[in-house]
Amino acid sequence: MTEEQHRGVLTFDAADEYRPEAPPPPEIPAWKDGSIRIGIHTSIAGDIAGSLDMAHGLGANALQIFSSSPRMWERGPSRILEADAKRFRDRRKELQLGPVVIHDNYLINLASPNPVLRTRSVQAFHQELVRAVALGADFLVAHPGSSVGSGTDAAVAAIVQGLKHATRGLKLGDLRILLENTAGQGTCVGSRFEELKAILDGCSDLPIGVCIDTAHTFSAGWDIRTPEGLEKTLQAIDRTIGLARVYVIHTNDSKTACGSRVDRHENIGKGKIGLEAFRRILNSPLLAGKAFILETPIDKPGDDRRNVAALWRLIGRTVKATGRDGMKPRPHRTKARAAKSGRASGASKSPKTRKRGK
Ligand SMILES: [Zn+2]
Ligand SMILES: [Zn+2]
Repeated sequence: MTEEQHRGVLTFDAADEYRPEAPPPPEIPAWKDGSIRIGIHTSIAGDIAGSLDMAHGLGANALQIFSSSPRMWERGPSRILEADAKRFRDRRKELQLGPVVIHDNYLINLASPNPVLRTRSVQAFHQELVRAVALGADFLVAHPGSSVGSGTDAAVAAIVQGLKHATRGLKLGDLRILLENTAGQGTCVGSRFEELKAILDGCSDLPIGVCIDTAHTFSAGWDIRTPEGLEKTLQAIDRTIGLARVYVIHTNDSKTACGSRVDRHENIGKGKIGLEAFRRILNSPLLAGKAFILETPIDKPGDDRRNVAALWRLIGRTVKATGRDGMKPRPHRTKARAAKSGRASGASKSPKTRKRGK
């Protein structure tokens, strides 16, 4: 072999370059098969993975949970043990539930003009994101916040900054943050679609979308009872936010009147919105592909089961609940507390002795 030939053999050929094997195409989760998704908020009391079995047992194929106590500030980071998170992810896959939606803590207010509360809120929302990622959740629903007199523009700016701080340094994977529209109670931001849009615009580099609550929409003044009213509302959402950015519909009837700006959920068909309106909402082609998640009250045992069944019926399907136990009726808060503090054993749990964030 001459030197020339030798060189020829050693010539670099791009095809010989070492390349690691191409990663497998991402697995498409079972719930993204295009089927209709009906879910309900279930309890994590006792065991976080138990919430999955409860939703499945109620006849739902999607669910929403809190990932920690929704009305208390955590002391320190409240991470979920990886063993528990793995059990949750595995069981969710087995039951083919999805989307898994997490609702954030009610105390979080990213718009608070009080710097201590704002910092605490950003930290708590950061922990919400950490837990949501650990659980493999698809969406984290957040109430935008309250301006507490600082004005809507300042609140929107604070929420945008808060979301940016809370997400800093996190790999969110497939998780998407959803801002929920509000009834417009007090100084709550987000009863106008334009306000939600302004937050989305400020966070264009974040995976963020919107959750529309039917009861909040109605209380905020959108009359979704009639076909024309629903059409007008959906068009308004589309013009501002864009319906493609709406992923979840909180499907709740309303105890309060249209335009009341008071947020009180009611069982499907039992409130001021009414069954026929929900039939149109569930079957609206404009809402195809969105997940319908119930946050209805449980006044009597079986209310959760009946609400899930009602939504399936509205789309012409009969889905039977298989679980034995649904959620227990939520006791009337003041009565329950009075009863608890009256008992000697329950005294230590009374609200007065419980530590609270200020
Ligand atoms: Zn809601
Ligand atoms: Zn509500």
